[in-house]
Amino acid sequence: MFPKPEKKKKEPKPLKRSVKPIKQKAYKPTFSYASIFTKDLDRCYITGFDKSMADIHIHHIFDAANKANSEKYHFIVPLRADYHNMSDHGIHFDREMDLRFKKKCQDYWLKHYGTKEEFIAVFGKWWE
Ligand SMILES: [Zn+2]
Repeated sequence: MFPKPEKKKKEPKPLKRSVKPIKQKAYKPTFSYASIFTKDLDRCYITGFDKSMADIHIHHIFDAANKANSEKYHFIVPLRADYHNMSDHGIHFDREMDLRFKKKCQDYWLKHYGTKEEFIAVFGKWWE
């Protein structure tokens, strides 16, 4: 048996702070805001225009209830305003283009995330 260690001298307790310091935490999103289509979110994926040349919007490929899922799985794409929702050829009004992007995301899902069934479990349906 080791001898019992000598009792330590009592250290003075640190002064209790009456007010907790406010933590200056930097905002940390739970996911990175990124796109499977491009690394440059300031440049239109279709026209190549950047923010200095035109209004660039971020379009969620799956919107409404799936907006958060689109962000989580990086199914977003930067588009010039007119290719987004500011004209008739915008993705919001062009069903063919809309579907094309949705299918690209579904392909990406199958390659990187999981099965079709798992996609449907998250997004609610499979776009054909
Ligand atoms: Zn949009």
